[in-house]
Amino acid sequence: MAKLYFHYATMNAGKTTMLLQASYNYRERGMTTMLFVAGHYRRDDAAGYISSRIGLEADAEMFRDGDDLYERIREHHDHTTTHCVFVDEAQFLEEEQVWQLARVADRLGIPVMCYGLRTDFQGKLFSGSRALLAIADELREVRTICRCGRKATMVVRLGADGKVAKQGAQVAIGKDVYVSLCRRHWEEEMGRMPPEDLIGFAGE
Ligand SMILES: [Zn+2]
Repeated sequence: MAKLYFHYATMNAGKTTMLLQASYNYRERGMTTMLFVAGHYRRDDAAGYISSRIGLEADAEMFRDGDDLYERIREHHDHTTTHCVFVDEAQFLEEEQVWQLARVADRLGIPVMCYGLRTDFQGKLFSGSRALLAIADELREVRTICRCGRKATMVVRLGADGKVAKQGAQVAIGKDVYVSLCRRHWEEEMGRMPPEDLIGFAGE
């Protein structure tokens, strides 16, 4: 039985590196993989690719709102037998697209590995993450740590001024920096609780 997997984490946890490594492992054995990445924040004429912070890179197809991923994968599979589908930035999938990926596992028998963020900088689920948490067969947390050493499950967004954003669009296009934190330090940085230690971002 092929399964739908969701590997989730905060920013900078190495999800994309894991995705590229897993795809490479298939290809090294002569198998075919199909890679997708969100096209929402890329130019229409840009070539799709997935790149990780440590320098790995691979070509990928882009998905956008309204795309039928089941049809695209089925067509590809018709002419090139596909052994695994990988989706990066899976938090941007629409709920319906998550169902389409579930059908790829259930009806085409191809495993689908999705990698993405669980929540945004305000601690709210993304559409794709909500659907994947609801219906994926396997949920796997990719771990990273907060500056204090605890597990980081949350993310804050720092604007150009270096200050933590407390409101705004779910995704900012620009040079914003994301920092992964444990829940306690996230609440402090978001101003929801007074800080008990004064480790800030200034000067880091
Ligand atoms: Zn912490």
